[in-house]
Amino acid sequence: MLRTESLTKEYQSGGRPLTVLKDITFEIGPGELVAVVGPSGSGKTTLLGLLAGLDRPTRGRVIADGVDLGRLTEDGLARFRAARVGFVFQSFHLIPTLTARENILVPLELRGEDGGRRADELLERVGLSGREHHYPAQLSGGEQQRVALARAFSNRPRILFADEPTGNLDAATGAKVVEILLELNRESGTTTLLVTHDQDLALKARRIIRLRDGAVVEDSGGGGPP
Ligand code: ADP
Ligand code: MG
Repeated sequence: MLRTESLTKEYQSGGRPLTVLKDITFEIGPGELVAVVGPSGSGKTTLLGLLAGLDRPTRGRVIADGVDLGRLTEDGLARFRAARVGFVFQSFHLIPTLTARENILVPLELRGEDGGRRADELLERVGLSGREHHYPAQLSGGEQQRVALARAFSNRPRILFADEPTGNLDAATGAKVVEILLELNRESGTTTLLVTHDQDLALKARRIIRLRDGAVVEDSGGGGPP
């Protein structure tokens, strides 16, 4: 479903190459939920960017949902993301001038779909019916992240990436957001990669990939979907 081969990413830093990901090779099955953990600076966000086709590797390959991302043009990558990928960020990244419901509709409108019913269904699914006309500033952090989750799932993605989605939330609110994420993963069969600092949240995944200094130092196994 999602496979990497010797994935390597270097940046130029003061004229010298800085290797931030080294020879990352793994395979994630359809519907799997994998937690990616590791200290700050270990390469987690860089890895997600490469897997989602937001950035290109220096060497190695990403094959996502049967597509070799290295063979796609920039337009092709954008289409791939719009059709098959969902993203949730630590800082929510909602559009402040749009209501909760309008934020959820954005990916659907980009695809030319009239997603009104889907948006309402998702609002209810994440427990925000009645809040649909609120703007992000009128919502708590946990509520904003639930809108972001609904938005990420609106296009029924094949793969979902969540980069420290609970990093700006208190523990109880974060746990609730992850609970919804786990439910959506189970219900939809969406392959899910969850980057987290929180050991308790990581343990909710059947598989943990641990990075240190850009290398995989632990991969707890390849369990299929529950
Ligand atoms: P994490 O998400 O695990 O905290 P990152 O993937 O954000 O780690 O960063 C890994 C390393 O790559 C860090 O040392 C960071 O400074 C470096 N890095 C990230 N993006 C860039 C960039 N655009 N240019 C140069 N170095 C970068
Ligand atoms: Mg990061």
